[in-house]
Amino acid sequence: MSSHIAYLVLGTNLGNRSKNLSTASSEINGLPKTKILQKSKIFKSSAYGPIKQPFFFNLALEIKTELSAFALLDQLQAIEQKLKRKKNSHMKPRIIDIDIVFFDDLKINKPKLTIPHYDWHNRDFFIKPLLEINCIQVKNRLSEINNKISQNLKPYE
Ligand code: AMP
Repeated sequence: MSSHIAYLVLGTNLGNRSKNLSTASSEINGLPKTKILQKSKIFKSSAYGPIKQPFFFNLALEIKTELSAFALLDQLQAIEQKLKRKKNSHMKPRIIDIDIVFFDDLKINKPKLTIPHYDWHNRDFFIKPLLEINCIQVKNRLSEINNKISQNLKPYE
């Protein structure tokens, strides 16, 4: 079986955030044919998107897995359910959210699974934890991202 390197970002803004992240991480490490290779520090971020909600804790994981991308997604969603994440909590407070950001150099463009994650380059709470664990895909696009940031924000005078 071939093995893959995937990068995940976890987020939580309900209950005991640190505990949610460590429970979810150990569940991920316990998945079949899957091991965590690297774990970032925990980052605190303000809620992203149109709805006002409590702050998040985020962390990034580098994992090695023999699961396919879709099988990994199914397993991660089962972990979200196990941690009692309510359905339809998109853009609402949640105990745990697990996103697959990269999976080798795979590109998938389906509603059920989009890889690379469609919005990773706009989310500092993805970029910073991923950089901390030396995610090559983020490093490779860093100058492009910096460029975009400096074009968006221009000095007043
Ligand atoms: P959210 O509520 O933001 O966690 O979105 C969950 C939905 O996004 C699920 O229905 C997933 O099938 C879908 N999805 C699409 N791409 C991804 C991805 N790269 N990682 C995790 N979920 C994804």
